[in-house]
Amino acid sequence: MRKYVIMGVQGSGKGTQATLLAGDLDLTHISVGDIFRWHVKQHTKLGAQVRRLVAAGELVGDDLVEEVVGERLRQHDWNYGFVIDGFPRNRRQAEFFLESYDIDGVIHLDLPDDEVRRRVLARRLCSRCGMDYNLIAHRPEVEGRCDVCGGELVTRADDTPEALARRLRDYHDKTDPVLELFRGKEYVTTIDARGDKASIQRTVRDRLGLPPYTP
Ligand code: AMP
Repeated sequence: MRKYVIMGVQGSGKGTQATLLAGDLDLTHISVGDIFRWHVKQHTKLGAQVRRLVAAGELVGDDLVEEVVGERLRQHDWNYGFVIDGFPRNRRQAEFFLESYDIDGVIHLDLPDDEVRRRVLARRLCSRCGMDYNLIAHRPEVEGRCDVCGGELVTRADDTPEALARRLRDYHDKTDPVLELFRGKEYVTTIDARGDKASIQRTVRDRLGLPPYTP
């Protein structure tokens, strides 16, 4: 069983790389941000609690995050392991995680803030099927419409310049120390996130000693 954490600033390609990694290795991809977005969209009680924070790009409180992550991991649908994305985001979450799970590796996707701004502000999401687009790297064939389902493409509420600035600040203040904590335990492999997604995935697997990526 393999347990990985994938870390990196917004727009560094965490979700994409986690999905590619999980695919043929039968790992379960757990995205904490996706869980919260699902609750907001479904208008659940939890969704109502986190809606404003998620929209503003502010961090949800640790108690709630730990509850959600704990419950998700207790579902135990990850026989071959998991790759968790968007967690832990601060020291307390990291300590909570390490109390219950040993980790096989932390993948750190490194991207300069300028490139983050360029990428994130070009990001679009299908409002129907959730498919990701980027007006720089992955344009839809028909402007504003999803190639897969024809749904309307929208900007994530937390991909505005103001929300992004807040998220970058939070990342450097709170999440950089988590990387230091993991580095101290020699879990971390840092990968330049500026390449194309296939070459980044090949590097990830090479560094982790996993079977090569075959798209
Ligand atoms: P993400 O897609 O990972 O950027 O997450 C989207 C939003 O969900 C964040 O801006 C936070 O509001 C919330 N969120 C996701 N993961 C966490 C976490 N580990 N701690 C606190 N808030 C989180």
